[in-house]
Formats: sequence, structure tokens, C-alpha cells
Amino acid sequence: MDFSPSPRAAELTEAVRAFVEAEIAPVERHLHDRAGEVRRHGTGADLWHVPDEVRELQRKARKLGLWNLFLPAEHAGPYAERFGTRDGMGLSNLDYAPVAEATGWSALAPFVFNCNAPDSGNAEVLLRYGSPEQRERWLEPLLDGRIRSAFAMTEPAVASSDATNMQLTAVLDGDEVVLDGRKWWTTGIGHPDCAVLIVMGLSNPDAPGTAGTRWCSSRATHPA
Ligand SMILES: Cc1cc2nc3c(=O)[nH]c(=O)nc-3n(C[C@H](O)[C@H](O)[C@H](O)COP(=O)(O)OP(=O)(O)OC[C@H]3O[C@@H](n4cnc5c(N)ncnc54)[C@H](O)[C@@H]3O)c2cc1C
Repeated sequence: MDFSPSPRAAELTEAVRAFVEAEIAPVERHLHDRAGEVRRHGTGADLWHVPDEVRELQRKARKLGLWNLFLPAEHAGPYAERFGTRDGMGLSNLDYAPVAEATGWSALAPFVFNCNAPDSGNAEVLLRYGSPEQRERWLEPLLDGRIRSAFAMTEPAVASSDATNMQLTAVLDGDEVVLDGRKWWTTGIGHPDCAVLIVMGLSNPDAPGTAGTRWCSSRATHPA
């Protein structure tokens, strides 16, 4: 198989690499140290505060089209163009791989390029399976960097890397889904901007394998 990146992927990877080296690396150590200080001495919202320097980096990256590069070519539709991805198109997995590798050299870069987990994966789920209302309410603000999201899979009592072990039940009640269970290790759930959760739950205990496991989205109820 030929793993050579396309000319577009090579150009984007070079642009991302140059941005990480020229813009992020020089301030990252300082920002990391300051975040450590906040973790030691800060409380509540201090812990989640995004410094102005990081917001400025996001603005610069977006201006260069280095924004939402995770959007998949097949499903991005008009969103890549509407939300600032260079050339107005998503990337194939093969083309995104070297871009993601380049962002992986910096802990801050995925956030600066709005390509950070779990937001990117959650945005992809909303893109592919969300209703028009769900996309407008959660996908668009995620692609705009205005809200954050979380993915709630891991549970305390079961081996949670296996979706067939999910114990939390998701039962349809009229036009609502009632979730009953316990989750932990949910990255970013405490962020004040976290507005949407994707929850893995069991909707049909009698179905074989993963057929009984479903995800559903829900608005975070505890914002801090
Ligand atoms: C920094 C951090 C952030 C995280 N963020 C999130 C998050 O945002 N959302 C979230 O839901 N979780 C999150 N997690 C939790 C993490 O994803 C889980 O720890 C992971 O899914 C593994 O689940 P587990 O701890 O239950 O381990 P287990 O599932 O018990 O796995 C332990 C080991 O057993 C193996 N194993 C499991 N099942 C089987 C099987 N049937 N047969 C053979 N081997 C098996 C696994 O491969 C693994 O090696 C986070 C964890 C960390 C450390």
C-alpha cells in the first residue's frame, strides 16, 4: 500500500509543523509551568481557565486555515468550509495521519488547532449521526471552539475498554432517554464550557455483542 501523503497533506503537515515550532514551542514551557502553579494553588474555575495567549494562538491558527483538520473528507460536507479548514475540505485518514503526528509533538497543539480529543471524535459522531438540530446546537459551536464536550464510557465496576461490558442502561421513555448508571474518568467533564456528553450505555441487554450498546448525547448537568 502506498502511504505517501497527497500534495495537500504534505503542505498542511509542513504548515502545522512550522506553526508548532515558531508559535507554540516558544511559549509552551512557560504556559505549562503556569498551569502547574494554578493546579497547585488555584481553585474551581481557575483550573480550567484558558490563558489569553492560547486564545491568541487559536485565532492565528484559524486565520491560516489550520483549524478542524480532523474533519473527515467523506463526511465534512459544508462544515470544513464554514468553520475555517484550509481549502474548505476535510482530509482522508491517510492525509490526516501526518498532520496529527505533527500536532502530537506538543501537548497544546491539538487544542490550538481545534483538533483535540474528545472534542474531535465527538464532533465526528455528531457530524455523521446527529440530527440537524443536534448539529446546530452542539456540532457548530464545537467546530467554532466555543464549547467543549466529553465522552463518558468508562465505568467503575467493569472492564470498560470493552463496550459490551457497559452497565449503564439507556431506556427510551416517550421522547426521552433515561440514563441509569455510573461513569468515571470522563476527561473534561469539569470544564465550564463542557456543554455536551456522548454517553455509552446499554439499550438492549438481550441483544448479542455490541448490538445492544448505544451512544446517546446529553447536555452536561454539572458545569463546574
Ligand atoms: C488520562 C485519562 C483520561 C481518560 N479519559 C476518559 C474519558 O474521557 N472517557 C472515558 O470514558 N474514559 C476515559 N479514561 C478511561 C480509559 O479510557 C479507560 O481506563 C480504558 O478505557 C480502559 O478501561 P478500564 O480502566 O476499565 O480497563 P480494562 O477495560 O479493565 O482493561 C484493562 C486491561 O484488560 C484488557 N482487557 C479488557 N477486556 C478484556 C477482555 N475481554 N479480554 C482480554 N483482555 C481484556 C485491556 O486490553 C487492558 O489491557 C481515561 C483514562 C485516563 C488515564
